[in-house]
Amino acid sequence: MPETAARAPDPSPVLDVTDLKKHFPIYKGVLRRQVGAVYAVDGVSFSIRAGETLGLVGESGCGKSTVGRTVLRLTDPTGGAIKVDGEDITHRSRKDLRPYRRQLQIIFQDPFSSLDPRMSAGDIVGEPLKVHGLADATERRQRVAALFDRVGLRKAQMNDYPHQFSGGQRQRIGIARALALRPKLIVGDEPVSALDVSIQAQVLNLMMDLQKEMGLAYLFISHNLAVVEHISHRIAVMYLGRIVEYTDKRTLFTSPQHPYTESLLSAVPVPDPTIKRQKRVLQGDVPSPVNPPKGCHFHTRCPYAVDRCRVEAPALREVKPGQLAACHLR
Ligand code: SF4
Repeated sequence: MPETAARAPDPSPVLDVTDLKKHFPIYKGVLRRQVGAVYAVDGVSFSIRAGETLGLVGESGCGKSTVGRTVLRLTDPTGGAIKVDGEDITHRSRKDLRPYRRQLQIIFQDPFSSLDPRMSAGDIVGEPLKVHGLADATERRQRVAALFDRVGLRKAQMNDYPHQFSGGQRQRIGIARALALRPKLIVGDEPVSALDVSIQAQVLNLMMDLQKEMGLAYLFISHNLAVVEHISHRIAVMYLGRIVEYTDKRTLFTSPQHPYTESLLSAVPVPDPTIKRQKRVLQGDVPSPVNPPKGCHFHTRCPYAVDRCRVEAPALREVKPGQLAACHLR
């Protein structure tokens, strides 16, 4: 399986991922013999600098959430390397990972199920400080109050429980919890997908303000290109475990080079009624990552596929300055 690459020019990124793979083995029978694997992430490389957002976009099942979980070491990688501030954390034990856990945080999609309903909002936000032994009860309360203030919640709400908040407010609690340890990088796994459209922009703007203020790096995972466009500096498009296109936001939206990116973009509504975008509806579903198509993974749905595409996987390479795409025809 070929390696894919999406590199930032900065030689010292906060997060540097090389040829990351995550294959989930499939076992069968009484003897639990391995009969195959789910190739969820299959050779993905990228890096993210301080103050930068890399948007990771693709359809459901393309492996983008698994990338997020694997770089945080919530699940162990099958191959590749993960570096945080230049330190290789790929094979560190749970104990040795502890200092890095503070630097890497996550905001989940569903703010309700990710918050313990039996804990007050203040305790939820303060819990990471308690777990890492970073503040006594009094200091913890002060720091939590400051975090509430910073994410637009009232200090008086610290004693309320998750069910007493709206969806947008619950996601603000999730953001405050992620900020408690003053991380360097936050993985947002579809962080606004469960929110009303009117609330999504507020939460995205809050994340952008926090980034400017604190120099945070974001890995922003979403199936929604419009959302990714709003917050990202660079965008990596994923298809069946691989990055198929990577470039800066403006170039991706004005001059996409991969047929899959073209199809995704054609489905994004354009706010200007004078601009008509030709809709290209993708045929069929994403093939199973258990048995991905040979050659170019996208050939079963690509309108331009030729014989070569069915046997040879295209490498992710620079097709225009600063723009990488994995397609034989570019
Ligand atoms: Fe389509 Fe072939 Fe390009 Fe894959 S390599 S995107 S199948 S034209």
